[in-house]
Amino acid sequence: MLDALLAPRCAGCDAPGEWLCLDCRDLCDPIRRGRLQAAAAFGGPLRRAIHRFKYDGERGLAAELGGLVAACVARDVARGVVLDVVVPAVLHVDRARVRGYDQAALLAAEVALRVGLPLRAPLRRIRAATPQVQLDRAARVANMRNAFVAEAGAARGLRVALIDDVATTGATLSAAAGALRDGGAREVRMYVVALDE
Ligand SMILES: [Zn+2]
Repeated sequence: MLDALLAPRCAGCDAPGEWLCLDCRDLCDPIRRGRLQAAAAFGGPLRRAIHRFKYDGERGLAAELGGLVAACVARDVARGVVLDVVVPAVLHVDRARVRGYDQAALLAAEVALRVGLPLRAPLRRIRAATPQVQLDRAARVANMRNAFVAEAGAARGLRVALIDDVATTGATLSAAAGALRDGGAREVRMYVVALDE
């Protein structure tokens, strides 16, 4: 409601008119790491945009950032990759409640809409993990293991486009993908806004 009343400004460069302007979007260079794809490296205007999206309540950015992720999904589909559903790597419900929204869920909804795939949410975070930023790489992987569970049968036989905002070590996405495969998913491909290597 409030979003609609506020005139959008580019999160990257403050230009009025859009939540992320064309110039800033043009700076995005997609990255592929096996089954993981990012719309860009984590930096520059995208770093600011993601920060505003996650921490400053600027939900309007879901459309722009989701559009960048959708372009990655669409490129895969164009080269013959078959996907059945879009699934968000959801936040823990407690954290989503505090923030007021779940940024992965907003992104996934936007991707599903743009690429014309059904949106499903079979994943659940089963405990609030220690904030990953406080841990080194090995500890992050251990911290995240078993952090997700998939609703029984909900992913069975499906080829999933798993969506999140940022991949750092990939521990979160690996845990989510593992839960989906445990839930019977046939294939899981991961798509994020930014890769922070
Ligand atoms: Zn801009």
